[in-house]
Amino acid sequence: HAKNIERGTVQFYQTNLPVQMEGILEIESSLRKAIEHDEFVLHYQPQIETKTGVIHGAEALIRWESPTRGLIPPNVFIPLAEETGLIIPIGEWVIEEVARTIRSLKKADIILPISINLSIRQFYQRNLVERIETILKRYDVDPSLITIEITESMAMDAATALVILQELKALGVKIAIDDFGTGYSSLNYLKQFPIDYLKIDQSFIFDILDDRDDRDITDSIILLGHRLNMSLVAEGVETKAHVELLRGMHCDILQGYYFSKPVPKDALIDFITTYEHT
Ligand code: C2E
Ligand code: MG
Ligand code: MG
Ligand code: MG
Repeated sequence: HAKNIERGTVQFYQTNLPVQMEGILEIESSLRKAIEHDEFVLHYQPQIETKTGVIHGAEALIRWESPTRGLIPPNVFIPLAEETGLIIPIGEWVIEEVARTIRSLKKADIILPISINLSIRQFYQRNLVERIETILKRYDVDPSLITIEITESMAMDAATALVILQELKALGVKIAIDDFGTGYSSLNYLKQFPIDYLKIDQSFIFDILDDRDDRDITDSIILLGHRLNMSLVAEGVETKAHVELLRGMHCDILQGYYFSKPVPKDALIDFITTYEHT
């Protein structure tokens, strides 16, 4: 592309470079303050059991409500948090907030399993399992209500990953492999790891109606997962046609805009109470 850029554009780009870099530093410093100022919020996306239509649980998805920048999605700031190490306190806040949510739902007679996304630095952090255990005890949360989501690429150090996953299982939390099919996959680790859920990446689901290959891949992932005693979760379920097709393939759990976008806690409670009455 660079060859095609006109002179004026190049100058524009160059003069803005320091500004862009300053921008990143600024974002980093406000990300640092965001923790103290309580600017993070969790949204929750329901997961539905395909066979029965009942709510299986919800996935917690972080958002940053910056007073100066507005609502910032995780794909923008999680990589920066990961790079700077800020993901450790942010991730700890996520676990604690999920524990608080489970406890407050329990008071409303709602027992809801919740999934938590971990990033790579968090996963390999020292004492991860003890930290999770301490928080769950503090809020009196049954570990079996928590699912930890990791991606395939996070498990590249397979020997260490196996130890961590076994410790998590011993604590009693469930394990999900997120975005399955897009990362570094080894059938050998799939066999060894104590995995409860395989989440089929949305990129396979979006075109599943029109793309024969995506349909065959999804079908094969479901068969493989079931053979290995895992439950299958489809992400990115947007239409009734998706639901019908995935039901025919015996996919266990469905998650996507068709049922609900990720919503704040109060809206989640509304969803749960109205959904179960319809
Ligand atoms: P993910 O864990 O794979 O989460 C699924 C993403 O797909 C979410 O984006 C969700 O809003 C979106 N989604 C769900 N259903 C649909 C659908 O039907 N159609 C479409 N187009 N999108 C759908 P979100 O919330 O922007 O999160 C993006 C990623 O950021 C997550 O991907 C996860 O990797 C990461 N993330 C989110 N929260 C956290 C967190 O608390 N900690 C860490 N470490 N990462 C997080
Ligand atoms: Mg996830
Ligand atoms: Mg995913
Ligand atoms: Mg993802």
